[in-house]
Amino acid sequence: MVMKRILLGICLLASLGGMWAQDSNSVRKDIDALTSKSMFGRGYAYHGDSIAADYLLKRFQSMQLETKEQEYKFPVYAMEGPVSVVLNGKELKGWEDFVIAPFSPSVHATLPVINLDYRTLLDQKALDDFFAKNKKAKKSMLYVDITKCQNADTIKTLQRLFGMLQRFKNSFQCQGFLVGVDEMSAWTVGMGYHKSQYASLYLKKELMGAKKNTVKISYTNEAHQHRARNIMALIPGTEEPDSMVVLTAHYDHLGMMGEEVMFPGCHDNASGTAAVLDLANYFRQHPLKYTVAVVVFSAEEAGLLGSTYFVSHPLFDLKKVKMVVNLDLMCGGDDGIMVVNAKDSLTNGFYNSLVTLNDASHWVKEVKARDNAANSDHFPFTEKGVPAIFIYTLGGRTGGYHNPYDTSAGASLTAYEGIAHLVIEALKQLQ
Ligand SMILES: [Zn+2]
Repeated sequence: MVMKRILLGICLLASLGGMWAQDSNSVRKDIDALTSKSMFGRGYAYHGDSIAADYLLKRFQSMQLETKEQEYKFPVYAMEGPVSVVLNGKELKGWEDFVIAPFSPSVHATLPVINLDYRTLLDQKALDDFFAKNKKAKKSMLYVDITKCQNADTIKTLQRLFGMLQRFKNSFQCQGFLVGVDEMSAWTVGMGYHKSQYASLYLKKELMGAKKNTVKISYTNEAHQHRARNIMALIPGTEEPDSMVVLTAHYDHLGMMGEEVMFPGCHDNASGTAAVLDLANYFRQHPLKYTVAVVVFSAEEAGLLGSTYFVSHPLFDLKKVKMVVNLDLMCGGDDGIMVVNAKDSLTNGFYNSLVTLNDASHWVKEVKARDNAANSDHFPFTEKGVPAIFIYTLGGRTGGYHNPYDTSAGASLTAYEGIAHLVIEALKQLQ
């Protein structure tokens, strides 16, 4: 018994012995777990986000922190099972050759392809004439090469294809669209509020044959009422526990395009999630005078749904919040950090203290400032008049963005410990 206790004591001393508890090794471990195949890209297919939520709950519980969960629902598409696109007899590669739009309904069919000039698509009369002449269009996919679009027409054409331009009155008389592109750009979340009647796929344009094309498409993409969860862990303050410092990060990402293509979302935002876990571990050992709430949000990628739900159903009095620090895109940092919403009267003092501390100790290369933007989970707090900033890293990483290449391998994390020190010091000084 005694022996055991001594050993335990030595282990504890060793783990607390470093100058700081911020530990890029533990951050790396959490990032690897969150971006692993078992989390399915933390999206809606295979309930990857829920698997990630269970992991985070366990991590907080392993730190002996009090946790709270909140649940809400929204309609969203999930693409599960095999995905196959065969063009003129040749099986194409998911993501490299084609991308299925996340809101594109299920298709299991072999269909002829008819070319359609984008200018015809943007002119209702020309389009009516096109359908009058092409009776086969009803049972075909239409191919629109958007690389031919002039200037702003690209966006207009895509909006038209995806049913977002209301001034065009009728529905399309076809099975769906193949959108010709030079290369795939970024994936997103398919919200299930309005169901599209048309299949929409992006296709590398060089794959299209000069004359007759036939495409065999098979995938299942269904909208469902999705149950998402926000998770909070609390570290009671030592002097004024009623006042709060809130650390946030979104743990969700885009999930899967079928059973093979995964969006790991390392930079966005396994990195910020791992960082707030590490900060929770630090503040657990070195509590602030204010209570620290660490909140990991769901459904950020679906339009800040988790944080929006949280501020309208808060788990503490928002008036007691001294500062919200939201971390998103934390993989790099070789060129410093950007602070979003740094110029507001509620946050400017905190921003200035980040700059002053950094000037003195050079934790990061530079602390830049930006006006507010609705680009991450700090934003719903700012709309409720709560002081909130969003920190993201600048430079120093090689991974992708909203594509399958945003992997752990692209995360340098070389700047992480400096960023963590800086945030901790500034929060300690917060009045
Ligand atoms: Zn994102």
